[in-house]
Amino acid sequence: MERLQKVMAHAGIASRRKAEQMILDGKVKVNGKTVKELGVKVTPSDKIEVEGVQMEKERKVYYLLYKPRGVISAVSDDKNRKVVTDFFPNVEERIYPVGRLDYDTSGLLLLTNDGEFANSLTHPKFEIDKTYVARLKGIPSKEDLQKLEHGIKLEDGMTAPAKVKLLSADSKAAKAIVQITIHEGRNRQVRRMFEAIGYPVQKLSREQFAFLTLHSLNAGESRELSPHEVKQLR
Ligand code: URA
Repeated sequence: MERLQKVMAHAGIASRRKAEQMILDGKVKVNGKTVKELGVKVTPSDKIEVEGVQMEKERKVYYLLYKPRGVISAVSDDKNRKVVTDFFPNVEERIYPVGRLDYDTSGLLLLTNDGEFANSLTHPKFEIDKTYVARLKGIPSKEDLQKLEHGIKLEDGMTAPAKVKLLSADSKAAKAIVQITIHEGRNRQVRRMFEAIGYPVQKLSREQFAFLTLHSLNAGESRELSPHEVKQLR
């Protein structure tokens, strides 16, 4: 839900101030009814007409961001911390993150203004693989990692089988780097899975989402998805 004048401004009709005046002048209809007061909120499915002409819907846009650590996966934050949309100062469309990464997690995050697309990618039924690389405190044994491959009991139930690979181990520093692929998306799931086998995550990054990777991006950088990529994800 967004204020009518904001939606009009985003659609390029007029500045927010001018849009307010147009509303007060009775030039704007929502779902066939003239709106004359400010403060009315609309959803993307509402039909907006300005001076008798139906407003174009916002162009659908799709971005891939390499989210740095220390950023909230949201469009605003009541504590004024950095949010993922801050990395898109020139994007006019009202994009928001597809799912979320923890504040301390870095890596691949999609943003879009296409609600249907976002819903289908986050719905568990589509089982989209997400690959993470975790730095662990301690070095897990093969048997420890097998517990994650089979599925492990967390407080919100058993996890689905995961693919797990030990990438490196530093016995002096007692740290390991482990790659894990899951298709669920529960809150802090990867951190909780490693915690459950006794190896807390010290650093976490999402390296892959479906077939998408971070490729040549650096933290804080983003790119638009190609129409072909969007089609493949649908
Ligand atoms: N699992 C986590 O624990 N954190 C994330 O940010 C993503 C998956």
